Amino acid sequence: MKSHGRLTAKPSLRPRELMTEPQVKDVWTARIVTLFPEAFPGILGLSLTGKALAQGLWNLQTIPLREFGVGRHRNVDDTPAGGGAGMVIRADVMDAALREAKQGSSAAPVIYMSPRGRPLTQARARALAEGPGVTLICGRFEGVDQRVLDAHDVEEVSIGDYVLTGGEIAAQVLIDATVRLIPRVLGNQDSLAEESFSIGNRGLLEHPQYTKPAQWEGREIPEVLLSGNHAAISDWRQAEAERLTKERRPDLWRAWADASSAADMDPTKDRQLSGASDQSRGHREPEKE
Ligand code: SAM
Repeated sequence: MKSHGRLTAKPSLRPRELMTEPQVKDVWTARIVTLFPEAFPGILGLSLTGKALAQGLWNLQTIPLREFGVGRHRNVDDTPAGGGAGMVIRADVMDAALREAKQGSSAAPVIYMSPRGRPLTQARARALAEGPGVTLICGRFEGVDQRVLDAHDVEEVSIGDYVLTGGEIAAQVLIDATVRLIPRVLGNQDSLAEESFSIGNRGLLEHPQYTKPAQWEGREIPEVLLSGNHAAISDWRQAEAERLTKERRPDLWRAWADASSAADMDPTKDRQLSGASDQSRGHREPEKE
């Protein structure tokens, strides 16, 4: 296991060759089973996530799948049962890597980054950020033998309806979306409050943003934003958020409209319903998400 970031010592009984650097205790930890540990921390090592990693606000450990391969060549894959193109990652190899990951934390959910998975949402990222961390499986080739996914009760999560070459980029997307929700990772926590999908924004997309210069190539900043009238600015932003959501995301718009009309009928339900419309609530059952 390879660790990334700034760390303090923690004893372990694990074999020395799998344990390179000590870890910060009790912080959110991403464990990543991958054939390409050198792909990490990648973009996560930069900017706010990188700074937070260096400060020990979260941990990153890679578990190189190759170390668990079989035979002289440490093979991790074999041909698909039933025939067909490509190769499949072996159940026994992946099982050994997952057992190693679970020694670090048995409580963390195990997620296989997979185009077959349920789409990643802000809600799932928020739920993960509130937990102890996550173990991520990065697939390659045609994917992973189903039996090991079943045996470890693995959840599948997709980052979109397209197929990547491997799960490493998808894992970094999930980690980035999650780590920025951990307290103190973002310089300004306020920016979380009203961004797209947030509870503060009630599941709407964010309004357009502007900054100086006031005039650029004949284009102006909407006058209201320069008025200093906070109520008018807030109304404008709300109207723009509604317009953009309606135009671009009918699914979010419908959920927001349903929640708003229900809240009008019974104001005590407002908070509950806004949570149902936005995607920033905890992990829910499939039919409700
Ligand atoms: N044969 C698989 C299928 O048709 O569903 C695709 C395998 S893909 C070439 C190799 C690996 O990339 C997958 O095992 C998965 O880990 C990762 N991957 C590809 N697309 C992804 C997506 N949209 N979201 C998350 N992971 C993805």
